[in-house]
Amino acid sequence: MRQIQMVDTKTQYQKIKQDIDQAVANVLESSAFINGKPVQSFAANLSAYLNVRHTIPCANGTDALQIAMMALGLQPGDEVITPSFTYIATTEVIALLRLKPVFVEVDARTFCMDPADLEKAITPRTKAIVPVHLYGQAAPMEEIMAIAEKHKLFVIEDNAQALGAEYIYSDGSRKKTGTIGHIGCTSFYPSKNLGAFGDGGAIFTNDDALADKLKMIANHGQSRRYYHDVVGCNSRLDSIQAAILDIKLRYLDEYAGARRKAADFYDQAFARQAQLTVPFRAAYSKHVYHQYTLLLEGVDRDALSQYLADQQIPSMIYYPVPGHKQKMFDQFGSAAQDMPVTDWLTHRVISLPMHTELDEEQLQYICDHVLTFLNR
Ligand SMILES: *Cc1c(COP(=O)(O)O)cnc(C)c1O
Repeated sequence: MRQIQMVDTKTQYQKIKQDIDQAVANVLESSAFINGKPVQSFAANLSAYLNVRHTIPCANGTDALQIAMMALGLQPGDEVITPSFTYIATTEVIALLRLKPVFVEVDARTFCMDPADLEKAITPRTKAIVPVHLYGQAAPMEEIMAIAEKHKLFVIEDNAQALGAEYIYSDGSRKKTGTIGHIGCTSFYPSKNLGAFGDGGAIFTNDDALADKLKMIANHGQSRRYYHDVVGCNSRLDSIQAAILDIKLRYLDEYAGARRKAADFYDQAFARQAQLTVPFRAAYSKHVYHQYTLLLEGVDRDALSQYLADQQIPSMIYYPVPGHKQKMFDQFGSAAQDMPVTDWLTHRVISLPMHTELDEEQLQYICDHVLTFLNR
């Protein structure tokens, strides 16, 4: 059996090695390492895939979020509502821009922003909402957008974990996550669902004026060469990464299918275990399983994780400390906030290996050992 990894980017690469190597060689030959043709080609293809008007490539997902917030003209002290139960990048950029992160709960089943708690957190200083499509499941965008419209707030979707996921509206129509709010952000970090061979990110919008601003900010606030209208930053996706991503984009749906198949296998194996809750499949979401995250009930998580590690099965805790309790936010006093759902989840989640290359032998081995531990 092949060694089990949390993410197996190597086996995935080997299957498309010829095309990737050729694309990289083409960039080397062209020597257009920055702003080469692959960057425009990938952005256009990704826009078409997502059915969004504008894709602005940038250096990474954290930059994408930062640039998005810079483009909305927010003022120091303005409040931005975000889930506490997310990766630190979502919330960090809020504080970096001297805005105030306001942490809200997630739904205990979907792991995504709880619309009721969101509405309660709105104040006259609230300017934006940042829902996160955590672990590959869509946040409840219909409700979030309705609240945003009612209170005239911007919505920036953190789609770093859910590229390719869909939100299914109550009327049955569908939209890709990242294209529903005013701005969507994603990451091409190698372990993401569409992973580069280095860093990368992108920003999405259907708003032409916002697109111009986002492009300008990502490029030193430049309107034309050497004329800088606003304070921006330097955030680029390089040509080699774009060339690789352009090829991998063709496989994104197939990759999502492989992830879903692995999730189905796990779900079935764990269906009758009272100590485990398998990931909830919201009816409004086409889940792309960036992570496969179980909830443990009455199980010693550290002992399970150690037992699995002893069998060469990796597992991870995403995330051991929720945002509102991170030291970096001490200045906001958020650690004193009462967030029972978030704290509850933080102590109970465990993520199993999830990627496109898991075969049945590996999945069976993982499931057998999880079940052996629970029933010993
Ligand atoms: C990965 C990730 C980011 C940041 O992406 P980088 O490319 O690593 O900067 C932001 N938000 C979430 C939810 C992520 O998972």
